[in-house]
Amino acid sequence: MYELRIRTSFAAAHSLRDYNGPCARLHGHTWQVEVVLTGRQLDGKGMLVDFRELKNSAKKVIEELDHQNLNTLEPFTHSNGGNPTAENLSRYLFERLRVEFSGLQREVKLALVRVCESPEACAAYWEEEQ
Ligand SMILES: [Zn+2]
Repeated sequence: MYELRIRTSFAAAHSLRDYNGPCARLHGHTWQVEVVLTGRQLDGKGMLVDFRELKNSAKKVIEELDHQNLNTLEPFTHSNGGNPTAENLSRYLFERLRVEFSGLQREVKLALVRVCESPEACAAYWEEEQ
């Protein structure tokens, strides 16, 4: 098996609902995002997927979050109940990126998405094999 890992980041504000602490106040992070893909088969150039292709696909999804107040975006609004935590962001990005990467003409699997709100605080989401 082969593994590819790309890293990207975006800047966005959030506040945590039903939370007793300073993170209940509106504040910002430069969120670091790590995307991991796996696959068995390399193409004729010796690549699983071109990094450029991966970065372009990830960029489309990440740009929707960049310089936003995450609490105002549909998946994280109060009525949808999705508090914009690092955990919920990692699941949201996993689901969005899985759709985005399904368009790649390669047999690759989105293995994991990790979201860090600081170098010391990260959450990751992946799905177990069926
Ligand atoms: Zn925060």
